[in-house]
Amino acid sequence: ASIQDSNSSIKNENVSVSVHGVSEKIMGVLGGGQLGRMLCQAASELAIKVAILDPSENCPASSLSHYHMVGSFDDSATVEEFAKRCGVLTVEIEHVDVATLDKLEKQGVDCQPKASTIRIIQDKYLQKLHFSRHGIPLPEFMEIDNYESAKRSGELFGYPLMIKSKRLAYDGRGNAVAKCEDDLSSAVTALGGYERGLYVEKWAPFVKELAVIVARGRDNSVLCYPVVETIHKENICHIVKAPAVVPWKVRKLATDVAHKAVSSLEGAGVFAVELFLTDSGEILLNEVAPRPHNSGHHTIESCYTSQYEQHLRAVVGLPLGDPSMKTSAAVMYNILGEDEGEPGFFIAHDIMRRALALPGASVHWYNKLEMKRQRKMGHITIVGSSMGIVEGHLKSLLKEDKSDVS
Ligand code: ATP
Ligand code: MG
Ligand code: MG
Repeated sequence: ASIQDSNSSIKNENVSVSVHGVSEKIMGVLGGGQLGRMLCQAASELAIKVAILDPSENCPASSLSHYHMVGSFDDSATVEEFAKRCGVLTVEIEHVDVATLDKLEKQGVDCQPKASTIRIIQDKYLQKLHFSRHGIPLPEFMEIDNYESAKRSGELFGYPLMIKSKRLAYDGRGNAVAKCEDDLSSAVTALGGYERGLYVEKWAPFVKELAVIVARGRDNSVLCYPVVETIHKENICHIVKAPAVVPWKVRKLATDVAHKAVSSLEGAGVFAVELFLTDSGEILLNEVAPRPHNSGHHTIESCYTSQYEQHLRAVVGLPLGDPSMKTSAAVMYNILGEDEGEPGFFIAHDIMRRALALPGASVHWYNKLEMKRQRKMGHITIVGSSMGIVEGHLKSLLKEDKSDVS
């Protein structure tokens, strides 16, 4: 089948219809990156059909989807056309055309999580306002729209100062640090100027970054995954340790804050809550993602129900699964792109090949056609009977890797 729409076309449509599956609903996913790909992988076990909408013909989820509509998830007509072909809509990226989702919802289209949630989350400043109104602890923040207000924010919050663009941020693209007042103008310019829509955050003096995946079913049941530690490199999630090695009280507080944050949002699905742990033992919220998340990749091998299967279950309306870990420890390592071209692929392939020989290791390669510096190309999860063991295996893997000795 194909549709006559200049903005989009259909690839890989599988027209067979099963009538005795776990769910007959076609789950439409806006976005077809690695998160969409892993959603498709989880869906295949339950024979749930996942359709994806992504502009790139060779996006990571394309070949694994029930069908792939090639088109923009930020284009109104395309999103509407896609929605007609799905029983329920969800996202694997928050930078989608939310006005159209809103309109579709009013017409009775089922969106999970709700368009209202995507709207709050896709604008980080709105998100901060929302969570502060709900009593969630977070770094102080303020909107800036000219040099005067930027200077005032520096006087209020001190330096270093984190400047963020409100919208379209990911992997730290959208963040700039001003170390002192003299840095303000260049940091703002680097982000595209005040017109882009900026705000600042007080520097969070964190000792660790933590994350919690929270799942909410359509019946409003809520389950939290174990707290993990995320280690970033140049603002990109690089290593995840599960469970986080922190005192019980910290795990409890992090879980409570994550639970409370997600409870303030509407709709079913998994949500990732990124947190800062400060030296005084305080937990501050960084941001929430309304979808599966990098910090939950490890759940594929280490938990009874992966975050991807959980998201499917939640969105199509099946009972939620057990989020607890079935292994004592797991560590996830993101394979980030090196310089463009063959040499970069050679380094990545070399690390994957060596990981294949590691005890407890699973290799995920996202099949992106092009490599760019810092692009997420794949990941490796190592599970084992203690954090010491899995970290030891990761160290041995990285020791031989000339590109990345951590
Ligand atoms: P993601 O890929 O997680 O969506 P993003 O582009 O939305 O990332 P943030 O999560 O806002 O970016 O920030 C990226 C990283 O920058 C954080 O994980 C943290 O290491 C650092 N960071 C963010 N905000 C602050 C802050 N207020 N103080 C200190 N460090 C910060
Ligand atoms: Mg983000
Ligand atoms: Mg983040």
